[in-house]
Amino acid sequence: MTNAGQQPKSQPSNIICWVCGSQSLSLVKPGNLPDNLAADAFQITDSRYGQTADIFKCSDCGFLECPTLPDVLNFYAEMDDTGYEDTRAERALQAEGLLKALLKVKPGGRLLDVGAGSGILVAAAKKIGFDAQGIEPSVALQRRAVENDIPVKLGILPSADVTGPFDSITLVDVIEHVPDPVGLLTDISTMLSEDGVCMVVTPDVKSQSARIMGWRWWHFRIAHIGYFDRSTLTRAINAAGMDIVSIGRPTWYFPAKYLIERVFSYLPSWLRLPVPSIFSRLTIPLNLFDSYTVLCRKR
Ligand SMILES: [Zn+2]
Repeated sequence: MTNAGQQPKSQPSNIICWVCGSQSLSLVKPGNLPDNLAADAFQITDSRYGQTADIFKCSDCGFLECPTLPDVLNFYAEMDDTGYEDTRAERALQAEGLLKALLKVKPGGRLLDVGAGSGILVAAAKKIGFDAQGIEPSVALQRRAVENDIPVKLGILPSADVTGPFDSITLVDVIEHVPDPVGLLTDISTMLSEDGVCMVVTPDVKSQSARIMGWRWWHFRIAHIGYFDRSTLTRAINAAGMDIVSIGRPTWYFPAKYLIERVFSYLPSWLRLPVPSIFSRLTIPLNLFDSYTVLCRKR
């Protein structure tokens, strides 16, 4: 996916592939970030699809990454997202679906959710008997979890506040946000019990919808700085000392109103009609087959 007619920019000198370590990367999508990049661009519900930092492609493994974006962690620490809370019930359904897949290979025990947000998956896991906790960098989201009596610590891995071993560690829509995915997976691998299981959920940049939408695919967004396909995801997991047990496609649940508004974001403003409130009460399960749910174990 190259932009025809665009001259490649000269490459900053110290760029390496976050998955395979190669230094052979080339710019395939010049960044189109807003002038004043702020924490709101990193909201889970941000809908500026197609807006990204410079995307480079590794010529050795094919991984797509945004190595020139400044330190994203500060943005996450400051980020709040009330729109995310509005879809809490639907996101709980999604968490239950993921936990069901996890239960098939690892029933119960200690669970850690990394990038836990306001604790939706942790709460769902506790409800079905896991001894669950989470860790989350956003001050506002972590505070909301604690206000709801959901055990979520503030921070990122590695953290002195979160100690293994864990029977399960979940990484749902997180790995595409971090500048050292293999480092994060390695930290997770060392925190797993001997037969522990890690669940990784992330968009698939080689999925059918990604191919059809091109650079306007909904997962091309400011907050996503790494783009995996089956091959690069496998490679990153293997490099972290884990092997894949199973691969599936997750189902998401959305209020109909939320989905309609997302579709509207692709339309010119004069075509965006008000969405009738009845659509707020309808929940739609959606599997676009453009994300992976991967279960893996320590080698
Ligand atoms: Zn690479």
